[in-house]
Amino acid sequence: MRRPLVAGNWKMNGSRAAIKALLDGIGQGIGSVTRAEVVVCAPYIYLPDVAAQLAGSPIAWGAQNLSTEASGAFTGEIAASMLLDFQCRYVIVGHSERRALYGESDAVVAKKFAVARAAGLVPILCVGETLDERERGVTEQVVARQLQAVIDLEGVAALADGVIAYEPVWAIGTGKTASPEQAQEVHAFIRRSLAAADAAVADKVQILYGGSMNAANAESLLAQADIDGGLIGGASLKAEDFLTICRAAN
Ligand code: PEP
Repeated sequence: MRRPLVAGNWKMNGSRAAIKALLDGIGQGIGSVTRAEVVVCAPYIYLPDVAAQLAGSPIAWGAQNLSTEASGAFTGEIAASMLLDFQCRYVIVGHSERRALYGESDAVVAKKFAVARAAGLVPILCVGETLDERERGVTEQVVARQLQAVIDLEGVAALADGVIAYEPVWAIGTGKTASPEQAQEVHAFIRRSLAAADAAVADKVQILYGGSMNAANAESLLAQADIDGGLIGGASLKAEDFLTICRAAN
């Protein structure tokens, strides 16, 4: 039985004070989240604060990106070992914003997955099609290609050490959520494809949905057989909304 997981992706939002208040709010209601594992992915610079505030709580934390490299002359980059210094457990890799705005290729994302995994972090691997790709009917090919890059580098078993987040690009930050049926269709495709290579991996790996999931639509999305949780952007910035989503995963 896969444990549900709800991860907040704060992106480049917040301030020290706002993040403290947000975590206070989530902390006050976390007792009502009985089943889901809850994770917050903070901007790098706030990770020391987040680690100090969440130490000993049931809420895990992580980063939104990491370097492909271990150390050295890579100005502005952050290594996996640095995330471990602040007790990160998770790291998002291949978010569509990083793919689109910072040119991260499938190969770079696969390397980030590998580096995170080797360090003992749990990579949350984002995959998903653009609106144009959906309209051209190539959603499955796109998602399969993105997953294949990791499988080629690390082998299919490696995916069981991570989490997959299906995030249709057209649904991210747009308020346009995939219907539960649309999302389930792609999640089932992902699980079926993995099962063809390794049934145990397919059974174990958590597949999250991300893309305008909110307090109102979380329950119907999370009720789908192959949706094991959510990767939440905008709605993770409001404690009550985020907690409502976490409770829906109960
Ligand atoms: C995301 O950034 O991963 C995301 C799903 O954002 P939003 O919930 O705001 O669409």
